[in-house]
Amino acid sequence: MDNCIFCKIAAKQIPASVVYEDDEILAFKDIHPAAPVHLLVIPKLHLASLSDCTEEHAPLLGRMLALAPKLAAEHGIAVKGGGDGQHGDGQRSGGYKALFNVGPDGGQEVYHLHLHVYGGARPWRGLGT
Ligand code: 5GP
Ligand code: ZN
Repeated sequence: MDNCIFCKIAAKQIPASVVYEDDEILAFKDIHPAAPVHLLVIPKLHLASLSDCTEEHAPLLGRMLALAPKLAAEHGIAVKGGGDGQHGDGQRSGGYKALFNVGPDGGQEVYHLHLHVYGGARPWRGLGT
């Protein structure tokens, strides 16, 4: 897609701080981080929004989502601990948000599908709880 900033990043026409790459997916640091760790996971294929995805994109979306815990571990924001998070030894800590902004009311500004992965010490900018 001409004039799509994330297509240009995927094509290495403009620089980004890349943290993961494979044939289908690229992940890089957000240029204006809202939290101490703020990564974006994109498909190399131009898809404007989650609202343009259908069942055929499920494997791609699944791989994007499955990358989040791997990136979180690599960037020190993984969930630690186990159990149900409420009882005894299983007390959990750490963690992050993994989210898609979808369309104008969803706060989407860049119309190339991207998964945000946010984490680290709070406060985080503009993300509430
Ligand atoms: P949205 O609001 O569309 O869900 O999020 C778009 C995100 O892309 C924003 O967090 C913004 O900071 C980030 N962003 C916009 N342009 C660039 C860029 O050129 N490079 C990088 N690394 N991030 C960008
Ligand atoms: Zn694009």
